[in-house]
Amino acid sequence: MSKVIAHFINGRLVQGQGRTAPVFNPATGAQSGEVCLATAVEVRAAVQAAEAVAPAWAATTPLKRARILNNFLRILDERIDELAAVITAEHGKVLSDAKGEIQRGMEVVEFATAAPQLLKGEVTENVGTQVDSMSLRQPLGVVAGITPFNFPAMVPMWMFPVALACGNCFILKPSERDPSAALLLAQWLKEAGLPDGVFSVIQGDKEAVDALLHDPDIQAVSFVGSTPIARYIYETAARTGKRCQALGGAKNHMIVMPDADLDQAVDALMGAAYGSAGERCMAISVAVPVGEATADALMAKLEPKVRALRVGPGIDPEAEMGPLVTRQHLDKVRGYIDAGVAEGARLVVDGRGLKLQGYENGNFIGGSLFDHVTPDMTIYKEEIFGPVLAVARADSYATAAKWINEHEYGNGTAIFTRDGDAAREFAHQIKVGMVGINVPIPVPMAFHSFGGWKSSLFGDLHMHGPEGVRFYSRLKTITSRWPTGIRAGAEFVMPTMK
Ligand code: NAD
Repeated sequence: MSKVIAHFINGRLVQGQGRTAPVFNPATGAQSGEVCLATAVEVRAAVQAAEAVAPAWAATTPLKRARILNNFLRILDERIDELAAVITAEHGKVLSDAKGEIQRGMEVVEFATAAPQLLKGEVTENVGTQVDSMSLRQPLGVVAGITPFNFPAMVPMWMFPVALACGNCFILKPSERDPSAALLLAQWLKEAGLPDGVFSVIQGDKEAVDALLHDPDIQAVSFVGSTPIARYIYETAARTGKRCQALGGAKNHMIVMPDADLDQAVDALMGAAYGSAGERCMAISVAVPVGEATADALMAKLEPKVRALRVGPGIDPEAEMGPLVTRQHLDKVRGYIDAGVAEGARLVVDGRGLKLQGYENGNFIGGSLFDHVTPDMTIYKEEIFGPVLAVARADSYATAAKWINEHEYGNGTAIFTRDGDAAREFAHQIKVGMVGINVPIPVPMAFHSFGGWKSSLFGDLHMHGPEGVRFYSRLKTITSRWPTGIRAGAEFVMPTMK
């Protein structure tokens, strides 16, 4: 009998009446559990629980909210190994990487503990004679977050710490492929002192998502996942009158200029392309060396390193890269490699045949490397989300930048160079939301905001940092006059400063 992975509604684990779906260990291929899939009934229960406590939570002082988040931070710090093990068992990434994502999530909690400072408003004395104006930010009410499989702890933590700090109640719908981490987060928030109902977890798939999108009491939706679903979430949320930020897929390029430190660039590419088996929205999936000599030198250094990648189960401390999340995703990634070969790219390292003794049913694939990839190819245009690096040789910096600017996605990008002029030109002109200069994965720290451009983000506001605070709060401006002895009489024209 496999374990049942429940919802967490109003401070309690609840199994609900809906369907279930199997959850697997990606390293062994064995089923490890069964996750409950919510219907509109469970979603409604979570929303009603949140609505009931929302006024009290909104009225809780920012300092008290921050103290609860501080308690939560301490719990995360003490139990990071437990959470990392849960992530590795369902996602497959190596333990050190699982810990890394928790630490990046904890940084957002740290940021959110500054709630009293973050929520300070603005005051202008004497906007008119004896008239003062005050702008303040108030909570939205009940908000929802829908998250992808690839960061089961960090991506929810991009959202809920800021939402809670701003005084909202939060309903999390994690990925049904690795749903257990969310339950630990919910239980630890409760232990930290968060009142029941302020944070709930609804497990599920499209049915649960649609119920959230159509619930009239949900004020805002944050989404992270693939672009077609991000677009659907954004369009539906707009129709149902909800504020929405929907982050989508990516195809991140790294330009290698002829003057770059090649050893540094190759090390950066290895981590950025193959870390977490390429299942990162900020993974570098296209390397663009400028000039044939740069390309040849880069390939000569890359190829042996890709062949030497240590692939193994996430619990093996020697492994640099774990399995892919599901059998279906493994088939999809293999299919992309087939397509690259069929379309004429040169497959220099082929990971398709990898077999690991003792893990024959795991979703393993070796690191793969293509050379001579061109912008018309499927493996260039589409997001593969696996350990497959495409090298696209550009004849000049201008060609490389044009390719990036014309690409559908605009999440992250990087340039490796020693030339300050080239780097500055790149940073200023490139049509991408997050840019690295000799930094391969330029994920902003928690006190800046995270988000891409073009088909990588639908909506205006990025996640966490100052934009996160704006997303999870709404502006109110109060104009007040305390007129002792002023009697202007009725005025029928627009009030102006005379
Ligand atoms: P996904 O789009 O399949 O799923 C994301 C969420 O949407 C899940 O909770 C899932 O249950 C739900 N969902 C799936 N199909 C749905 C449907 N038809 N209707 C409504 N909801 C649906 O994404 P994934 O495979 O879990 O994650 C990988 C994707 O996420 C990649 O494209 C990756 O680039 C992207 N991602 C982007 C960022 C970013 O910051 N831009 C960060 C992490 C991941």
